[in-house]
Amino acid sequence: DQTLLEVNDLKKHFALGGGLFGRDAKVLKAVDGLSFTVARGETLSLVGESGCGKSTVAKALMRLYRPTAGQVVLGGKRIDELSDGALRPMRRRIQMVFQDPFSSLNPRMRVRAILAEPIRNFGLAKGRADMEARLGALMERVGLPRDALGRFPHEFSGGQRQRIGIARALAAEPDLIICDEAVSALDVSVKAQIVNLLCDLQRDLHLAMLFISHDLAIVEHMTHRVAVMYLGKIVEIGPRRELFTAPKHPYTQALLSAVPVPEPGAARTRIVLKGDVPSPIAPPPGCRFHTRCPHAFDRCRTEVPKLLSVGRGHEAACHLNEASGEGTAHLSASTA
Ligand code: SF4
Ligand code: MG
Repeated sequence: DQTLLEVNDLKKHFALGGGLFGRDAKVLKAVDGLSFTVARGETLSLVGESGCGKSTVAKALMRLYRPTAGQVVLGGKRIDELSDGALRPMRRRIQMVFQDPFSSLNPRMRVRAILAEPIRNFGLAKGRADMEARLGALMERVGLPRDALGRFPHEFSGGQRQRIGIARALAAEPDLIICDEAVSALDVSVKAQIVNLLCDLQRDLHLAMLFISHDLAIVEHMTHRVAVMYLGKIVEIGPRRELFTAPKHPYTQALLSAVPVPEPGAARTRIVLKGDVPSPIAPPPGCRFHTRCPHAFDRCRTEVPKLLSVGRGHEAACHLNEASGEGTAHLSASTA
């Protein structure tokens, strides 16, 4: 079985207080019933506008949050219900690269200490020489000179710092790396370099990667599969090629329409969505996207669409796909 990570009906709700006796208590359903898998050596991208719950998924997987419901299975073992003690040896296997390379590295630690910490914590080095070899190899892997081990984070550029953040994640020898907007804060040219580095590492080390991003243009060139989130739910999931060339959910189609195409004259027709993402405290009934969907009809306002197969390994949650089956005519990709 090549499945490394399996997430089943994951929910993370936050109670927001409210009046006496919880009479007006509100619940923020940040993640509301998410299921997906990541295979060994695979990159799955989780995309959607900010506030859709992407980072909450990451935090639940890292067990920075305990899920409200659902299961997280890593390498055949449920990790959502482990005690903190039992979880410790599993922690090595999922590592994270954060958005902000400026605040995610301790400014008072030299790179050597930053990278040695996970190696020591997880007991990976066999003696001093092995530690040195590991530190050198990590620097080489992320394209930094070995003698930079003695420097402090502030002595590096943003892109170099993100390389250090990646090296720190790799130091633990993880099976899965979660990148939460890991290139969003970087300049355009640096962004491409870091994306290329992640692609190389993913391939060379056969790493699984959960790449969280609001930017479909970046995802297009690096991912195997894509899951599109809207208000705490996956609305479409599928192989990269199918999703980019024949998106089946109106929200995916709108997001994609904003992604520039490289070939001249092949411009996508921009679909501009009305309004903002509604509050996850009071998501719209029926299809959560109906308040912004250009195709919404009566049924959308009352009935929640299910994720249904629209192709091989490709699912979408939209009543229009249900009504006319696969390759529905009126939902033909206006973005292709
Ligand atoms: Fe739009 Fe209705 Fe499909 Fe939701 S179910 S995406 S509102 S057409
Ligand atoms: Mg986020």
